[in-house]
Amino acid sequence: MDLCRLTIHEAADLLKKREVSSVELTEAVLHQVEAVDGKVNALVTVTADLALDQARRADERIKRGDATPLTGIPGVLKDNLCTRGIRTTCSSRMLADFVPPYNATVVEKLLGQGMVIIGKANLDEFAMGSSNEHSAFFLTRNPWNTDCVAGGSSGGPAVAVATDETLFALGSDTGGSIRLPASFCNVVGLKPTYGRVSRYGLVAFASSLDQIGPLTKDVTDAATVMNVIAGHDERDSTSLPHPLPDYSSSLVPDIKGMRIGVPREFFVAGMQQGVVDQINAAIALLEGLGAVIDRDASLPSIRYGLAAYYIIGPCEASANLARYDGVKYGYSAPDADSMWDAMEKTKERGFGAEVKRRLMLGTYALSAGYYDAYYLKALKVRTLIRQEFEGAFDKYDALVTPTSPTVPFKIGERLDDPVQMYLADVCTLPVNIAGVPAISVPAGFVDGLPVGLQLIGKPLGEETLLRIAFTYEQATGWHRKKPAVASISI
Ligand code: GLN
Repeated sequence: MDLCRLTIHEAADLLKKREVSSVELTEAVLHQVEAVDGKVNALVTVTADLALDQARRADERIKRGDATPLTGIPGVLKDNLCTRGIRTTCSSRMLADFVPPYNATVVEKLLGQGMVIIGKANLDEFAMGSSNEHSAFFLTRNPWNTDCVAGGSSGGPAVAVATDETLFALGSDTGGSIRLPASFCNVVGLKPTYGRVSRYGLVAFASSLDQIGPLTKDVTDAATVMNVIAGHDERDSTSLPHPLPDYSSSLVPDIKGMRIGVPREFFVAGMQQGVVDQINAAIALLEGLGAVIDRDASLPSIRYGLAAYYIIGPCEASANLARYDGVKYGYSAPDADSMWDAMEKTKERGFGAEVKRRLMLGTYALSAGYYDAYYLKALKVRTLIRQEFEGAFDKYDALVTPTSPTVPFKIGERLDDPVQMYLADVCTLPVNIAGVPAISVPAGFVDGLPVGLQLIGKPLGEETLLRIAFTYEQATGWHRKKPAVASISI
């Protein structure tokens, strides 16, 4: 048995029965990292010694009969989640040597359950990007075709899950960064409701949009991880106080009578026909399983979503990233003559081109005289989009759309055209604007490349999403397909 191929629930079962140990599981995963990561470059830091140490402690805990579903389970963390004593780079030169003195709340919670940290995974610098090509370090490749992008910004986490370099990962999603790479790599990615998961210790990009969530091999595992990471945190004032459900109890293969809307605005011009066909097939399947489908749902303001996102996101980023001034932490230009010179040189060398583009866009849109024309207008669009989602959820239990308008594109293809790059998120970012939850599940292939189905729910509607996604997954089994590169062994 190849232990690295297991899902969390399969591994937890074997651990509990003491048929395998966490050390064996961790060794198998580390072996897979050695065999495969050179082909796809998912990981920025591998914490092998720490992982084996954690695994030994997990085995003792299991022996004591004190195990939970994540005890002894190997996982990776996107490298914008603070880990005490482990470098947290945001794939930026600015934070290349930053070692946080504290853990993000989600990390603390996972460690409390006895998780094993395999390493930190690559991202577009500061999570700004859709392809992983904006990492300051290296490019993460798509395991289904290494000439294609992995999707971003959680490309490293998605690829690590797809290639069995981990059993699960945590990512962050500001405009699609969990769901897009999940779709591009044929794994499950869940963006929870804004505030459902604490963001304390997530390096901030756009604070009104950022949310942490799981990337997993199946829907069952997404529920398991949510059971651990969700919940109120007094260190994040935006985290919601609502009681936590048991997400695993949503895993019921029955969607009879559920009302599902298909909003036409998500089927944008220029969408790849193969993707449309796969999504239509998925919708027909949901209908066959008893869901009541309305193919004529409409959220008209969605068409302004991309424009509003690329004002709100950069504005918030320009405020959040002002802290990288070379004084408190991160890179600091050593050769400056004055404070201003130090700040200029630090930012000039510490940030890559895409981050600079966002900071300039945001600073411009917030500056005197432009604030009303751009930022305020974008906020008004945000209100409209929110209201339209609210209206839709009076009628539907969930909405279904493609996760991405295309399958993974070629490396380099969109680098010279930021608008083309931004269009990859056209179906995902309205979800962040509205603050609602959404999940991407594997939904088939076009020319050997994966397609993702996005299900969108009402605020705190994760349970409904998990139920529909689980039912769909059980009926199709697309998630079981594995890229050939993952079966290389040494
Ligand atoms: N691709 C989008 C952007 O570059 C979303 C990124 C994200 O969700 N972190 O802003």
